[in-house]
Amino acid sequence: MEQDIQKILIPEEEIKKRVKELGKRISEDYKDKFPHLICILKGATIFLSDLIREVNIHMSLDFMGVSSYGSSTESSGILKITKDIDQPIEGRNVLIVEDIVDTGLTLSYLRKLLTSRKPKSLKTCALLNKKVRRKVDVPVEYYGFEIPDEFVVGYGLDFNEKYRNLPYISVLKPEVYMYEVMKYEKE
Ligand code: 5GP
Repeated sequence: MEQDIQKILIPEEEIKKRVKELGKRISEDYKDKFPHLICILKGATIFLSDLIREVNIHMSLDFMGVSSYGSSTESSGILKITKDIDQPIEGRNVLIVEDIVDTGLTLSYLRKLLTSRKPKSLKTCALLNKKVRRKVDVPVEYYGFEIPDEFVVGYGLDFNEKYRNLPYISVLKPEVYMYEVMKYEKE
């Protein structure tokens, strides 16, 4: 797996440090607000599990699945809810936990959907923010790192379901994408 990596963009230790800071901020901002965190599957799961262990106030948790990417690395803009949340959010202080905000299309769609369910407040915490790629203006109240326009994997983020288990954020060698695309076209 590691032979497929071109470069490490954010090392493990840096992520750890930043996640700690985000957890501290969330704990302060949501003190006595009993936040309800909604983790977006599957990419944000690693981030979520590290983040909530840095949050030292009462909170609750739910999961939502959205698919916006096929096998390619470009957003199709077509979204599908693959798993809805289990609990109502009316009157709750909801915090969406995302892996990355890229074009902003997914988050904008999610925000509209969740707003219609009348939460008391609705904010987002994303590990990564690719501001340069934004197509729609959408608020991201908390984020770990701003990154350049590169397709990244690791720490929950995948390419064709692989590389989620890498402990750092990295960029794959171009031939890995080519090989995967060639394999995909043959299938
Ligand atoms: P958006 O709708 O903002 O364009 O994209 C959001 C989703 O696209 C993310 O939740 C993530 O699943 C996927 N995505 C966007 N950029 C990247 C990237 O660089 N790497 C990976 N693995 N997924 C990405």
